Amino acid sequence: MWGIYFRASRFMDPLTIGGFYIKSFNIPDCWRICRKHFRAVVSDGGFVKLNKFRSRLNMGRLRDICVKIKPIHLYFSVLDWLFPDRVGVKSKANHAFPIGGEYVIDVDSYVFRKRHRHVLDGCSGVCVECLRTSRDLTIHACEAIERYYSNIAVVFSGRRGFHIHVLDFNASDWARYDSRNPIRSHEAARFRFSKLISLETYVFDEKHFTLSVDPMRIVTVPNSLNAETGLKCIYIGDRKDLERSTINGILERSKLNIYCHPEP
Ligand SMILES: [Zn+2]
Repeated sequence: MWGIYFRASRFMDPLTIGGFYIKSFNIPDCWRICRKHFRAVVSDGGFVKLNKFRSRLNMGRLRDICVKIKPIHLYFSVLDWLFPDRVGVKSKANHAFPIGGEYVIDVDSYVFRKRHRHVLDGCSGVCVECLRTSRDLTIHACEAIERYYSNIAVVFSGRRGFHIHVLDFNASDWARYDSRNPIRSHEAARFRFSKLISLETYVFDEKHFTLSVDPMRIVTVPNSLNAETGLKCIYIGDRKDLERSTINGILERSKLNIYCHPEP
C-alpha cells in the first residue's frame, strides 16, 4: 500500500485534554512564548485566537487558557511578533511588526513514497514504519541545514512525521530586508533557502514547499497534545538526539499515562 496510514479515531475526551494541560504542558525555553501568536482548534472544529485578550502570553496564562478551551490542536506562528494580538490576514499583518522567527519544515514520509506494509501502533493507530521513514528523512534534512545553521530543534508532529525548527534562521541572510514590507522580506528569504535545501533533500512536495515558504504559517506547539491521536507532540532535541531515539521510544514518551482500551 502506498502512502501514510493513520487509523481515524475519535477525539480524546475533554477531561483528559484538560488534565494534560494542567499537569504536563510546558514549552521548552528555546521558543519565545511572549512573541508568538497562538491559535487552537477546538472540539467544534473552529479556530480560536489565544492572544485576543492579552497581547503577549506567558506559560501560566497559556496553560490556563488551554485548560479552559481544551484544544484538539494547538498552534503558534513561526514568526515572532511585537504585537502578537494584531496578527491576522497577511495584508494587514505589518501592523503587528514581525521581529524575526524560525524557519520550519514539515517532514512526512508519504512525500518519499517508500513501499511497505503499514504496522500500526495499538493505542494511537499511527504507522511505525511510516514514522521510521520520516525519522530518516528528518535526519538527512537536518544534516543539509547544518551547513548553514546550528540551532535546530526537532519536534514529533503527534501523528506521521516531524517538524524541523531552524531557530537561528535569519531572513537577512537570504534577502534584503525591506522595512516597508517585512513580511515580503521573510517570504523571499524562506523561498531562497527552501530552494537550496530542496536540491539536497527529499522532504518537499509542492504543498510542503509552499508551507515552508509562507511566513504567516502556524505550526504545532512543541510539547502540546494532538487530541486526535492522543499523542504528545514531544520536543525531541537536535539531530543527534533524534538519531539516538527509536520510533518505539518516541511513541512511548508521547503517550499519556491512561489506560488504552483494546479494540472490540
Ligand atoms: Zn506505513
